[in-house]
Amino acid sequence: MDSEGKLEILGGYDALYDADGSSRAARLPQRLEAPGGAGIFYAAAGGGRCVPLLRVLMTNVCENDCRYCSINCHRQVRRTSFGPEELAKTFRQMWERRLVRGLFLSSGVAGGAAKTAERMLTTVEILRLRQRFSGYIHLKIMPGQPADYVERAVALADRVSVNIEAATPDYLGRIAPSKTYEAIIPAMEEVRRLQQRHPRLLRAGQITQMVVGAAGESDQEVLETSQRLYDRLAMRRVYYSGYQPVFEEELAPPASALRQHRLYQADWLLRFYGFRASEVPFDDKGALPTELDPKAAWALVHPERFPLEVNQASHEELLRVPGIGPVSARRILALRAACTFRDLKELSRLGVAVRRARQFLLLDGRYLGDRALADRPTAVRELDPVQLSLWDQQKASATAVAV
Ligand code: SF4
Repeated sequence: MDSEGKLEILGGYDALYDADGSSRAARLPQRLEAPGGAGIFYAAAGGGRCVPLLRVLMTNVCENDCRYCSINCHRQVRRTSFGPEELAKTFRQMWERRLVRGLFLSSGVAGGAAKTAERMLTTVEILRLRQRFSGYIHLKIMPGQPADYVERAVALADRVSVNIEAATPDYLGRIAPSKTYEAIIPAMEEVRRLQQRHPRLLRAGQITQMVVGAAGESDQEVLETSQRLYDRLAMRRVYYSGYQPVFEEELAPPASALRQHRLYQADWLLRFYGFRASEVPFDDKGALPTELDPKAAWALVHPERFPLEVNQASHEELLRVPGIGPVSARRILALRAACTFRDLKELSRLGVAVRRARQFLLLDGRYLGDRALADRPTAVRELDPVQLSLWDQQKASATAVAV
């Protein structure tokens, strides 16, 4: 099989969780128009920009039996592999044609973690050391690969990832019998140690991913695990892939796009809004609210915190207001030194979603919300009908581009 044929197979795993499971790029016109565009995916690069990456597997041969995976060792699929020289050359050609600006390299496990990692590392060493490629590289780390291989990966890549896959070791055993926390967590810890020792390396940090909905785990268990990863390992980001059954393997019904979306919203609260997982509102089964986003749900069960005087509130307090984000909170604080806010339009100009926020605010002592609405707890959902349309499959999946 020639390299183009291999790329069609190894760059085509939109739904493969090991390759982060987002099919966002497949919906983008660039993906469809790019000649020889297999494997090109678009990743958010900050500032609303998207950059094209080659997201590809070294091989789709795999000896593991992750039950959610479309290429596990039991599946009847066409198998193929790139050699390091061949993949480096293929990437180089795509880069020179300006089809891609970076690489996300993952792999099935063939011949053990060390051999698999060796092939991936050799590929990236060819790019970095011989071809002097200085662009973005995200390299997947195989749990169980030797510590010195992890060190090589950290020295070469901008970002590395070790997928934790499930919220607890028990859940992992149910959905990925060949994987264990005993192999996954030490690999993550080794990355963290190296980050601390070499703070200039790994500028895009370490990330991980969980499959959600396959093992019967609750949202609370998922987010508590994420919290530990953020606290102890300075994980840059946890991605959540809603489970979708593959072939005959039905571990559970498909995870809804809404569940995935709510998890991402709650995750943002942990990372950018100063929330702890223990503060996020869950129902008695540990599920996030479906009708409201987690921040609005939290605000409604904390009436003692509101309404909040915009002209006196701390940064932390402002961040707790539905409709105020980190950027608008910073702008409010910066401008407040020179003026007193009295008008919702002034807040709107700073990026505050005033239709939502006004229910929770005082402006120079005046309450400008709708008291009738505020008195009915679930009525906050009426504040912003757009919220209800945020859950469609496309937007939820787009959130999940892990690069
Ligand atoms: S390790 Fe698991 S998820 Fe990754 S390719 Fe193999 S079977 Fe699939």
